[in-house]
Amino acid sequence: MRDQILTQAKRLVVKVGSSLIATRGAGLQPDRIEQLATELVALRREGREILLVTSGAIVSGIQKLGLTAYPTHLPVKQAAAAVGQSRLMWAYEKAFERLGQGVAQILLTHQDLADRRRFLNARHTLTTLLGFGVMPIINENDTVAVDEIRVGDNDSLAAEVALLVDAELLIILSDVEGLYTADPRQDKTATLIPLVDEITDDLARRAGTSQTFEGTGGMVTKLRAAKKATTYGVGTMILNGAKPGLLLDALRGTEAGTFFSPRPRKLNSRKHWIAFTLRAKGQLILDPGAVDALVSRGKSLLPSGIVEVGGDFVPGDALTCVDADGKEIAKGLVNFSSETLRRIKGCKTADIQAILGSQEYEEAIHRDNLVIL
Ligand code: GLU
Repeated sequence: MRDQILTQAKRLVVKVGSSLIATRGAGLQPDRIEQLATELVALRREGREILLVTSGAIVSGIQKLGLTAYPTHLPVKQAAAAVGQSRLMWAYEKAFERLGQGVAQILLTHQDLADRRRFLNARHTLTTLLGFGVMPIINENDTVAVDEIRVGDNDSLAAEVALLVDAELLIILSDVEGLYTADPRQDKTATLIPLVDEITDDLARRAGTSQTFEGTGGMVTKLRAAKKATTYGVGTMILNGAKPGLLLDALRGTEAGTFFSPRPRKLNSRKHWIAFTLRAKGQLILDPGAVDALVSRGKSLLPSGIVEVGGDFVPGDALTCVDADGKEIAKGLVNFSSETLRRIKGCKTADIQAILGSQEYEEAIHRDNLVIL
């Protein structure tokens, strides 16, 4: 399956980390960007569609503003991103123009993806660009994104983009070979894992201890991105992007990097969006009967099965549902506000009418808006 996906995937999202195209002291490295552009254009000529998700704005801005350290103060970080993003884009524009490849800049925040209309609109723009043969170059809109609306790291952003455009393959280019059995810089016996069929908690835990990698995320955000993408059926690869030619070789079948097999696609785009793009605004603790109704019988969640309501939310917000042990079992869009739900939790449908006067919905979460995790 691995070789087939790598050699045949038509629509690819390629993510490039800051450390591959810039250094903190010297800023952007045009020769690195040109090398990358050459390889991506070679893939385009094989008939592949490519969306590039790139970091590097902040690092480039740091150098231009003459800052000596990575900014911690948000306005400074955003100023650096504003200065750096245009330089970053300019460097790509020049490199791709020389090769006859058109490019377009797209800046996204979590808000653009969490609002279904904006999500679909972004999808139309991106697929229209691909239709014109233009390569979208995407980054987080760091200059306006405060924490609440940030995706936060470009590994996740790249996974979101892969879902947005229904890509067949996500490639995360990094300055490491791939995922190792332990941190290779500390443990000499660590070996590269070429193939991962399932991203288990144990794997994530071991990756969590290897924090020596460059960039915003390290292995943790890469694994999280791989999980998000593979769950939706998108094969994911972590590959060393510092080795010229490796990307092309890997996509022609040469053994390199770590490949994460896609899961069979069980969720449609909208349900995946509920499960993985939306952030939960609250939590419902369910009784065992409700857990069974949701998980084994495909039912909607009724207020009668809710034991506890956590958080502040309004109708339409996403919530997680947990069992009595706190295990997450489902996520969905709620029909009531937190305030209303606290009044009617545990109540039978007939009693709810009496409590609320009128009642638009019987279900707290309708099964069409519910995803079992
Ligand atoms: N968006 C940031 C930048 O372009 C990088 C975020 C990341 O590396 O994950 O500088």
